[in-house]
Amino acid sequence: MEHQTLILGQTFEVTSNPLTGPWDEAVRVRTDAGVLVQDGRISAVGDAGTLRAANPRATVVDYGQHLICPGFVDAHVHYPQTAIIASWGKRLIDWLNTYTFPEEMRFADPDYAAEVAGRYLDLTLAQGTTTVCSYATIHPVSVTAFFEAAAARNLAVVAGKTCMDRNAPEGLRDTAQSAYDDSRRLLQHWHGRGRASYAITPRFSPTSTPEQLDALGALWADHPECLMQTHLSEQIDEIAWVKGLFPSARDYLDTYEAHGLLGARGVYGHAIHLEPREIDRLAETGAALVHCPTSNTFIGSGLMDVAGLAARRIPLGLATDTGGGSSFSMLRTMAAAYEVAQLGGTALHPAQLLWLATAGSARSLHLHDRIGMIAPGMDADLTVLDLASTPAIAQRAACADDIWEAVFPTIMMGDDRAIADVWVAGKRQA
Ligand SMILES: [Zn+2]
Repeated sequence: MEHQTLILGQTFEVTSNPLTGPWDEAVRVRTDAGVLVQDGRISAVGDAGTLRAANPRATVVDYGQHLICPGFVDAHVHYPQTAIIASWGKRLIDWLNTYTFPEEMRFADPDYAAEVAGRYLDLTLAQGTTTVCSYATIHPVSVTAFFEAAAARNLAVVAGKTCMDRNAPEGLRDTAQSAYDDSRRLLQHWHGRGRASYAITPRFSPTSTPEQLDALGALWADHPECLMQTHLSEQIDEIAWVKGLFPSARDYLDTYEAHGLLGARGVYGHAIHLEPREIDRLAETGAALVHCPTSNTFIGSGLMDVAGLAARRIPLGLATDTGGGSSFSMLRTMAAAYEVAQLGGTALHPAQLLWLATAGSARSLHLHDRIGMIAPGMDADLTVLDLASTPAIAQRAACADDIWEAVFPTIMMGDDRAIADVWVAGKRQA
């Protein structure tokens, strides 16, 4: 039997979705709490004194008043865009052509891909993010580099080869057949290997021919255990472009649906400017949507209706969308989600924001039986928040009337200084 570790502090615990029912019935913070960890998993959660008495030989790590959360889950990123984060002044299509595509070309080089993958995962771990779902580039070596870097850190990650066979520059295009063959070979090798999961990844409809979408739809039908990730309805001029490219499609979502790329394990980033039919179909199929608020404001895309989509019981995750997003931090991303919702007339509660960044994102990726919650049997991926990490935050938290008033300043103003510690599969990272 491996040694036990007892981690003490305040724990963020979830029993149901706080966006679809009263948040205070779905989520709570337990004070004087303990998380017992063994063999990389959480074996018990409860009162600190009780767990201490029952497990006298466990090594104790006491975080005092710090908040122990599930490790943050970033449900939509492009790790190859690490080096071009915060590039100035373009909207989506220009931004892709000016910054993204030239950088993505460099990932044909396996050494460069490995260097950026490691850099990216270290940057995000320092922000308390223990799982990401990433696009790679069209190069299979960019997928291998990412999964190898994640395995070296024992991280649970999702990734896939980005597929594009049109409207991308020479050197960043595959074909329908090579996208199918490469994706198939990569998913057969990586899906379920250690903590890795594979996502079939057409970038978005404008960069795939109908033949490529058909091929990837067929691959997904053969491998329904995998996720399928793509982009949906991010900008108005993008949607007009899609209508021109797919004249017989009923709407943007239909360009996926018509090719077998709509389903419960589909994960669609952005989803800002949706038609009523699209919302109905997403709700019927159980597909997940991922909110990328820093990206949506940075690139000027628009405001996702989180409250309205949650009311339709569509699974929702939260993401940085690095490097269209302007931060690697899920704290900053929660703050942006709060601000975007406020502009739509909804004040998301801190319990709902933390849920989106953990259990909500894990559910959107179908990893909720393993990560995203502090509960017995879950992998021990934990992020410990110092709720007084800067003088500005500390003075506000000091006069909080309840735990949520103490947590909210860290969500709105916190950065990597608030990340007191990170645990990955029961191992402390410090
Ligand atoms: Zn994206």
